[in-house]
Amino acid sequence: MTTHRPQILIIYTGGTIGMIENPATHALQPFDFSHLIDNVPKVKKLDYDIDNIQFAPPIDSANMNPSHWSDIARAIEENYDRYDGFVVLHGTDTMAFTASALSFMLENLSKPVIITGSQLPIGEVRTDGEENLITALQVAAATDKNGRPMVQEVAILFNNSLWRGNRSTKTSADNFNAFKSYNYPPLARIGLGITFHEEALYRSPSKRPLKVRYAMDSAVICIELNPGMTVDTLRYLLATPGIKGIVLKTYGAGNSPSDAWFIDAIREAVQRGVVVLNVTQCVSGGVHNTLYETGNSLTAAGAVSGHDITSEAAITKLMYLFGMGLSAEAVKTYLGCALCGEVTI
Ligand code: ASP
Repeated sequence: MTTHRPQILIIYTGGTIGMIENPATHALQPFDFSHLIDNVPKVKKLDYDIDNIQFAPPIDSANMNPSHWSDIARAIEENYDRYDGFVVLHGTDTMAFTASALSFMLENLSKPVIITGSQLPIGEVRTDGEENLITALQVAAATDKNGRPMVQEVAILFNNSLWRGNRSTKTSADNFNAFKSYNYPPLARIGLGITFHEEALYRSPSKRPLKVRYAMDSAVICIELNPGMTVDTLRYLLATPGIKGIVLKTYGAGNSPSDAWFIDAIREAVQRGVVVLNVTQCVSGGVHNTLYETGNSLTAAGAVSGHDITSEAAITKLMYLFGMGLSAEAVKTYLGCALCGEVTI
């Protein structure tokens, strides 16, 4: 009897995990994959076949944009049948955006796409990168009792927790525990072993083959409310040329000023065909727009509830829906549905 050795593809995009210090400026800059993997000799102890693809050059994830998401998605699509799972090494700054974007772009995904990185470079003595990489590989290789992949979605593995990608947010700039999903439980906890929470894992209702949606429409912005925002600022932002979707980051349970100048400006943008998605600034909980008069008036002006979606998922979901060439009305309909576990309706 032959046992199957897990086949894993690592896609190295850059990020702190593989960075080294520039001797002239002392700033960290991305470096190549062989340096990274040489620093994790333990990988060879895993009984896996591991290949890699790297961004040329690897990037700081602050420079990530939709064309890079397409590059990652293409690497997965072109290698989908050959590998059991995929590990994406990525900077932490925009990791939650990439995880959210990929969750929408990779339709009917039924294999693990595990994104990880680190807060300290892999060459540092106290690095968190080694453990994150090893555990990400193990999660990508994990199967259930029927031999099917345990994880069949895009997830972020960071510091002993596995989170649904499109529910995650970077919560700390300097703590090893840098990611969290406030509105969805962890998919797994990593202790002495890896304990998957099977009831939390996503299973696509579709049995269709992977379909990658490459088009992401960047005509989407985020407007975060603050007391003191003026009518001129608001109208200027709402009139951004070519804009199709706005993630309006509101207070608390989805509340905004109820002043006529504010509500009129939102209503006029909606009437021009702009989709306004109401997402709370709070890290946990969501929009309950009937709770207060201030939320009610925003709904009456035509803003759509984002429920408990993260702003990372909200922005990338709008990019994905507009990328499919949908009308504003159709986009609003899909915003009211969970497409891949990103929101609780
Ligand atoms: N600036 C880095 C990046 O996002 C930070 C990190 O990886 O932690 O690429």
